[in-house]
Amino acid sequence: MKEHYYVALDIGSASVKAVVGEKFHDGVNIIGTGQTFTDGISKGKIKDFDLARNAIIDTVKKAKISSGVDIDEVFLKMPITETELKFSEEELRFGGNSTEINGTHIEDLLETLREREIHKDREVVTVYPVHFKVDDLHEVMDPKEMMATQSLFVRAGIVLVNRTLLMNAVKCVEDAGLEVLDVYSDAVNYQHILSESEVELGGVAIDIGADLTQFGYYERGTLKYAGSIAVGGNHITRDLSEAFNTPMEAAEKAKHQYGHAFYDLASEADIVRLPQRDGEPDIEVTPKDLSDIIEMRLEEMLMSVFEALQQQRITKVNGGFVVTGGTANLLGVKELMQDLVSEKIRVHVPNQMGARKPEFSSVISTVSSGIMFDELLEYVTIDNYD
Ligand code: ATP
Ligand code: MG
Repeated sequence: MKEHYYVALDIGSASVKAVVGEKFHDGVNIIGTGQTFTDGISKGKIKDFDLARNAIIDTVKKAKISSGVDIDEVFLKMPITETELKFSEEELRFGGNSTEINGTHIEDLLETLREREIHKDREVVTVYPVHFKVDDLHEVMDPKEMMATQSLFVRAGIVLVNRTLLMNAVKCVEDAGLEVLDVYSDAVNYQHILSESEVELGGVAIDIGADLTQFGYYERGTLKYAGSIAVGGNHITRDLSEAFNTPMEAAEKAKHQYGHAFYDLASEADIVRLPQRDGEPDIEVTPKDLSDIIEMRLEEMLMSVFEALQQQRITKVNGGFVVTGGTANLLGVKELMQDLVSEKIRVHVPNQMGARKPEFSSVISTVSSGIMFDELLEYVTIDNYD
């Protein structure tokens, strides 16, 4: 892998996704993608190691072919399951010696914080700075190139995840013949799908996947809270399958083709034919009939997210809600949410060519995290394309 390429991997419940990206001005350019649907993963956890590993191998092969880039190192994302977020502080002392702060100082601070976290069953995934203080005077987001004589202080967020979950995700990727360069929690990644003002004012990112609905709250430039509920698009499909006595595959297909999240706007004009599980003749329903079921489940999922936020006393979301993930493909998601809350709602679809699907938000934002940390720690000199 050339040093200016970033390959990220998302081992999702419905599909494994990979992207090959590069830094492009302030954003990410995607030059190749891979995606493989698999039953090897469920609720963000590996359920069948062999299936999962093969899906990773296939996905990376596809990304390799589509990008023309040799891939042997990846950034891995972890879902926000079995995850804890805490905050901690650390300081480097310079004892009166004038010191120009560089990436190594920052890395030392973050490493010290990482090493301090010794737990029986949890491990640090990501340590990210909330802010630095230079000589107790300047509060900055990136102190590099500044001079200090006394100290460099950092307040940082630490994302911990269940060790077994993390170990097996990493092992699965390694057994697929890849090296894991670093692991980033989606809690940290989603900051990159919000705009600067959304992150500043207080914004919530919600990723509605297949088995998981993950969310993060960002305010004053940084992650404040993250959580997930073990419900997603699969539950919608299951509900449709039950309600209309149709096989899961038919329910999934109907959801993709005719699914609408907002009952009031769903069409009554189209006819959807649904085969029956017991061999009875097909039935005919309208998208509005489907929507009746879809809206109920999605609303319940969103209400659980709002409840979790309320429990954290996050009641005013001035920067609004940003919804993404595969289930955000459903028409009417924005309208449904707007019916539930008064804040601004936006559905996030990545704007990179070849990856314009909301299910790619997580893996693309993993590339953004890779770039962010490389720049903060001065790991690589990134080529610029002007
Ligand atoms: P998770 O994050 O839950 O571990 P994942 O990352 O693999 O899983 P995504 O790829 O984000 O999940 O989303 C998959 C879900 O999105 C599935 O439930 C699928 O049915 C749903 N989905 C994808 N496309 C559409 C569409 N066009 N309309 C409705 N739902 C869709
Ligand atoms: Mg996902």
